Parts: sequence; structure tokens; C-alpha cells
Amino acid sequence: MHTPRSAVCFFLLLALSVAVVAAQAQRDPALTEVWDPVPPKVDPGDASRAPSDAIVLFDGTDLSAWSGRDGAAEWKVEDGAFTIVPGAGGLATRTAFGDVQLHLEWRSPTVLTGEGQDRGNSGVFFMSLYEVQVLDSYGQEPALNGCGAVYSIAMPSENASLPPGQWQTYDIVFRAPRFDQAGAVVELPRVTVVHNGTLIHDDRELPGTTAGGLDREMRAAGPILLQFHGDPVRYRNIRVRSLDS
Ligand code: MG
Repeated sequence: MHTPRSAVCFFLLLALSVAVVAAQAQRDPALTEVWDPVPPKVDPGDASRAPSDAIVLFDGTDLSAWSGRDGAAEWKVEDGAFTIVPGAGGLATRTAFGDVQLHLEWRSPTVLTGEGQDRGNSGVFFMSLYEVQVLDSYGQEPALNGCGAVYSIAMPSENASLPPGQWQTYDIVFRAPRFDQAGAVVELPRVTVVHNGTLIHDDRELPGTTAGGLDREMRAAGPILLQFHGDPVRYRNIRVRSLDS
């Protein structure tokens, strides 16, 4: 029996419509909506305002969250920032941290006369053991002891440095080592570093503590330390979110 062409087209269109409806049913967005667990709400803040769940380590006015070599933090607070004072030693947070997300801004002196490690040297030590280097490395090749390096362990993948005298940002996620019941390290610490918005270490594993750390032994938590290296480096807007569960 000969089937009219119009009838063939009708059935083809009908079959196609059924297939489309079935596909849409399979892609129903409601099927992918999972509501549990409910993530906590966080006001992320902005350049001048810390996230709502952050611990503010320096808000521009005082160093009460920090201690110095002899107790009090004696770096100079001025114009919403603080500056390393010659002979004052480093500063450590009064709180010990494990897993953290840190935001910090720093500025090397505008005029630098030294070379190499004498160009605005300081550093951010997690647990007082692992240093992310602070240094003027503008226009230089990345180095194991240059700006953004995990000192003596890993050089940054890019040199994102700004010229001396300009404020620079570090956004760093540090994951503490994990230990077994006997105290042996079963997972090494890891660090991710964003320098001035550029990723320079991506979940980097740290096989040991860095030269200049206060100890060689790994630990579960410890203070964040700002290094005194003799140069008047400035810091401001320091905030940390604890990532410990
Ligand atoms: Mg240093």
C-alpha cells in the first residue's frame, strides 16, 4: 500500500516531538537540585571590608592580634598600615592556625639600595615554619628565594611582582600536614598562592619546613609569623579564615 508523503512527514514529526519531550524530562533541572548539606552564608566583603567569617589580624589601627619578640608587637602603626621597625624582631599571631585562607597586603620601600635578598626582604610564615617570601623581585626571573617563592623549596610559576613602593596582595590557602595516631606525618602540608591576582603556586606540596622557619618538626597548628629581615616593609589588611573543620 502506498503511504502518502504527507502522512510520513506527520509521523516523523510526531516521533521527533516525543523524543524531544522525553529528553527534556531527563534534563529536568529539579533532578539536579541538591539542598543538603546547606552551606553557611558568608558576606565576602571587599577590598576595604573583611569577609563576615574572617578573623581580622590587622584592621589598620592596632597590633593587638600580634606579639613581638619580647611580648608586645613593636612595629610602627601609621596611616592604616604597620612598618617593620629595625631591631624589633618578627611578629607572630597570638592565635595558632591550622588550615587557613589568608589575605594580606604588603609594600616594599619605594627606594631600595640593596641587592638580592636585601631588597625589601620579609616573609609570611605559616605555623612559623613555611615561608612565602616577601621581596622586591620586580622584573627579575623567578627564583627559589625570590618574591612569591616558598623559600628554598619552590619558586613561583610566574613573577607577578609590582615595582617597589606599590601595594601588593597575597591570597594564600595553606593546608596543614596530617598526622596518624602515633604522630607520624601521613599527608604533607600544601599551599596555594595568588600574588596580585595571579596564581603562582597551585596546591603545592611542601616536603619540609623552609630555611628560616622556627623549627624543623612539622606540627598541626601554629602562629602566622611576619619575618623581620631588617628592611622597613609595610603591611595592611590582614585577614584569615580558618578552614579547620
Ligand atoms: Mg624573607
